[in-house]
Amino acid sequence: MEKILNYINGELTAPKSGDYFDNYNPSDGQVYSLVPDSDAADIDLAVRAAQDAFPAWSSMPKEKRCDLILKVVEKLEASSEMLVAAESKDNGKPEWLARMVDIPRASANLKFFATASLHFASETHDMDGMALNYTLRKPIGVAGCISPWNLPLYLLTWKIAPALAAGNTVVAKPSEITPMTAFLLSKICIEAGLPKGVLNIVHGYGNKVGDALIRHPDTPVISFTGGTVTGAHIAKTAGPMFKKLSLELGGKNPNIVFADADLDKAVATSVKASFTNQGQICLCGSRLYVQQEIYETFKTAFIAKSAELVVGDPKEEGSNLGAVVSKEHMEKILAKIEEAKAEGGKVLLGGKRILLEGDLKDGYYIGPTILEGLKADCITNQEEIFGPVVTISPFETEEEVIALANSTKYGLSASIFTENLSKAHRVAAAIDSGIVWINTWLLRDLRTPFGGMKNSGVGREGGFKSLQFFTEEKNVCLKI
Ligand code: NDP
Repeated sequence: MEKILNYINGELTAPKSGDYFDNYNPSDGQVYSLVPDSDAADIDLAVRAAQDAFPAWSSMPKEKRCDLILKVVEKLEASSEMLVAAESKDNGKPEWLARMVDIPRASANLKFFATASLHFASETHDMDGMALNYTLRKPIGVAGCISPWNLPLYLLTWKIAPALAAGNTVVAKPSEITPMTAFLLSKICIEAGLPKGVLNIVHGYGNKVGDALIRHPDTPVISFTGGTVTGAHIAKTAGPMFKKLSLELGGKNPNIVFADADLDKAVATSVKASFTNQGQICLCGSRLYVQQEIYETFKTAFIAKSAELVVGDPKEEGSNLGAVVSKEHMEKILAKIEEAKAEGGKVLLGGKRILLEGDLKDGYYIGPTILEGLKADCITNQEEIFGPVVTISPFETEEEVIALANSTKYGLSASIFTENLSKAHRVAAAIDSGIVWINTWLLRDLRTPFGGMKNSGVGREGGFKSLQFFTEEKNVCLKI
């Protein structure tokens, strides 16, 4: 059975403990590789390697750093079909989705931030000719980058690319549930000639190896994407150590359809927003609010379109949804559906595990699930489920739907569907979330600020904001 290895100081290395645990293929429920059960000793080695590499990497001309990262991109793109197959096998997502989104986006992240660093500039503040202030920005040191399982290579590169481009060295901890493409990236970095110790990837359990990374005294900057509970733990641990922290956390995103929306587009986009990647995207719209006048018409069309989605073999082009990421996660989603029923929710579609046949009979499949009749303050409408589950509710007025949209502790993203431009702007301004889409969903420009309000996170990444986050600012005041 294939053993995944850590990537420390430019080499593929076994965990110090010599222990491994099972890695499952969610599409068939079988173990297909082994993950290093690393611990604080491996993190320490990785941090030391990153510290040793820091002086040369941080002082290298940025054009040279950019070229070295672009060499990684070249190799990554040459291996894209292998990465597509690996991401799908490890995560359960359809191959077409990994081919269309995950892998191209991983390469785009690396390219974008490598080249963005060439255009990154800092500010000056002129004091009416009496003095001049200028801002110096320096790489910070060893960055700890922790990423989740839903978009494994996409979110790993979203962090490591700006950290490296800004001149830091990195110790990354991918999710233990989906480590494969990070392992393949290690091999790609070696082939591409990335200098030793610049990027280190340590695999293992979050509460062991992730925790060691955030507690390490020599990781002054931590960028984390994951659940809100883990984010709170990280903040509690790293905060008193005065580490620079970026937290991209969970969401319970509203999807609002006004009566004047283009119905066909609103239905089609809402289906995507609810069920893409089996609903396992932090930006998925999991609360659908539809204005009363069109509620029944929209609901009928939405159920019909969702019912057409094929749940099947992730390798098949025709499968709209693949498997959810793990047995534990499948059980959690099914328990949440039962909880919704107990709260008075009516299942309009799905609500059950889907059992496929043959080799896939033990895979973790759940059909698109639509729930109706749930109050705004019930657990189902308040807590993130992170699966193919959406609630649908009617609303009457703009004021009412704004209050509904803002009624959770989260504030990551929202979508609004309307043909009335003034209303679109008004509602966008009134919703407490880091991102608002109007008549679309998941349309991303890497230059824009990305992050959440309230319990959806702290700070913004994206574009120059990522490069600002991964550098330390210093004001220099020169008296003239
Ligand atoms: P988790 O919070 O469980 O895990 C995220 C990462 O943190 C994993 O690598 C995990 O390791 C690690 N981790 C777990 N415990 C600790 C710890 N004590 N110290 C340090 N690291 C730790 O999230 P999931 O992987 O379940 O991802 C799903 C969540 O991510 C959802 O809530 C989703 O909304 C959110 N998310 C947010 C995004 C955003 O941009 N705002 C984007 C994508 C997802 P391991 O898996 O090995 O336990």
